[in-house]
Amino acid sequence: MSATPQKSGDIHAHIRDVLACRKCPNMIGPVVTHHPLIANVYLAGQAPGPREGQFGKPFAWTAGKTLFRWFETIGVDEETFRAHAFIGAVCRCFPGKAKGGGDRVPSPDEIEACAGWMEREIQLMRPELIIPVGRLAIERFLPKAPLAELIGKPFRATIFGHACDVLALPHPS
Ligand code: SF4
Repeated sequence: MSATPQKSGDIHAHIRDVLACRKCPNMIGPVVTHHPLIANVYLAGQAPGPREGQFGKPFAWTAGKTLFRWFETIGVDEETFRAHAFIGAVCRCFPGKAKGGGDRVPSPDEIEACAGWMEREIQLMRPELIIPVGRLAIERFLPKAPLAELIGKPFRATIFGHACDVLALPHPS
């Protein structure tokens, strides 16, 4: 889909706003977001890991390698995917490490603080397909149910007032 000049301008302004966001005191910057793009496919991840910030793009490290291997099996390489699909996330900053190991799960307040960015993107793009990746993202878009009943199955849902297809994937970590 080619962006109208209005939408193209809006997405550039939106990405500038996202990159300047400092709403969450316990999150570790920089903000990681996709480049300005109006896309028909919107992938929603959970939150960046510790390495994405230095690369300035989501899914730039180990989880991304697995994710893009999955897409390669259906004939879409990483470069093509990034050029045609917008990659958003439940939270756009690295949450830090959890005390017990692994990355900290964002708090409900942080998830809520960041939700407005995703809402604005979906209302701006009105994508035909949303792909939530991982539990936190799946919970934003599909009714509560065991993940095994949600992953890999096509759903029709209304997301932020926009009706679209939803296809959930497991987290690739
Ligand atoms: S997680 Fe989201 S809302 Fe919080 S500071 Fe980062 S971009 Fe802003």
